[in-house]
Amino acid sequence: MSSNNWKTEIENAYTCFEDVSKVINLTQEEEVAVKLRPKFPFMITPYLANLIKDNEALRKAYIPNMLFNGVDNGVDDPLEEEEFMKTNCLIHRYKNRVLLLATNNCASYCRYCTRARRVGKNSTHDIMEAIEYIKNHKEINDVLISGGDPLIMEDEFLDDLLSKIRAIPHVLVIRIGSNIFNVMPSRITDNLVNILKKYRPLWLSLHFTHPAEITKECEEALDKISRAGIPMLSQTVLLKGINDDEKTIEELMLKLIKNNVKPYYLHHCDNIKGSDYFKVELKRGLEIIKYLKDNISGFAVPEYCYDVPGAKSKIRIDTTTKIK
Ligand code: SF4
Repeated sequence: MSSNNWKTEIENAYTCFEDVSKVINLTQEEEVAVKLRPKFPFMITPYLANLIKDNEALRKAYIPNMLFNGVDNGVDDPLEEEEFMKTNCLIHRYKNRVLLLATNNCASYCRYCTRARRVGKNSTHDIMEAIEYIKNHKEINDVLISGGDPLIMEDEFLDDLLSKIRAIPHVLVIRIGSNIFNVMPSRITDNLVNILKKYRPLWLSLHFTHPAEITKECEEALDKISRAGIPMLSQTVLLKGINDDEKTIEELMLKLIKNNVKPYYLHHCDNIKGSDYFKVELKRGLEIIKYLKDNISGFAVPEYCYDVPGAKSKIRIDTTTKIK
């Protein structure tokens, strides 16, 4: 496989109705939504289009839906992250860790994105200012590089960024948050893996929604990372009509551990604008977690959690948790 396959994927990605309708038979409602796409960017790699064209659940995650355009209770910035922005691309919300928003771009755009207010839009990312902030705050020992999807950036840029963060003595751990394994596994080239492994301890915090995402190509990409000694965690957002049933989540968790990915969080969906139709009742999430605890190994059961603005960390949900 050519190491530049991923760039061809990006060049050939579908960004409008005329293109995507050649490969996916859109419903009338999806057609209208794709043509309108008023609030959020639309982009699907050819790899992902092939994966979702016959998978109803995954289609909902990526193809616009008219419900997305309706009136709902969500907000643009459900975690009030903008209040914690210390530079134009750095969020310092929790004492020892920061979130570095290295890019606004993704290889494909998910419909339930917490950062829908930023992704796909032009904005300035003053990386050096962010690095200086981290240098000047010795309490920061954990840097999560996110976006957008940082693995969409060029190898040279990533190498340079990681070397600058690794050179800061008080930073113990670097994490990269990414959805690239689901939408463009060809991005995991040998060169990228060699870059990543130079900066260990480095963890990948991956985003998986449905077992159908873990294809042969995805497994090969995960295997490359695993062999490089880079630990992987996964986060899953619980989404109505996509993964809100016991068997789907069970299959996903089992596929993750088979591929050396530790299931970490099952997220209650953030209160993002346009996502009411994705929301699952807390009671349902707890039923799914209970099923997992009763049926699979403990280390394969993720923590059920939600994020609230101002909290010192994520809130773990159990049967005693009250949620608004
Ligand atoms: S890949 Fe991540 S940042 Fe990009 S749209 Fe999906 S959830 Fe948002």
